[in-house]
Amino acid sequence: MIRYSVQCSKGHVFDEWFDNMADYDVKSADHAIACPDCGDTHVSKALMAPSIGKSNGARELPPPACGTPSACGGCPMAGHVHG
Ligand SMILES: [Zn+2]
Repeated sequence: MIRYSVQCSKGHVFDEWFDNMADYDVKSADHAIACPDCGDTHVSKALMAPSIGKSNGARELPPPACGTPSACGGCPMAGHVHG
């Protein structure tokens, strides 16, 4: 058994048990999953983790500002390290 957080088209999130991942696909396609709040059967899997890793995002972050080659030679800390 596997538990998914399911969200209906109206935004209600509820937990539902399934035999396996394919069981969810079959039941969601058959509209066999009904929201307990409003009875909506157009449901989708809600995010299961409270925090999602940002490394998997579709957008790429712009390069950092310190990436310019000219900034590397002008560091004020260079040569001032006392053992
Ligand atoms: Zn609902």
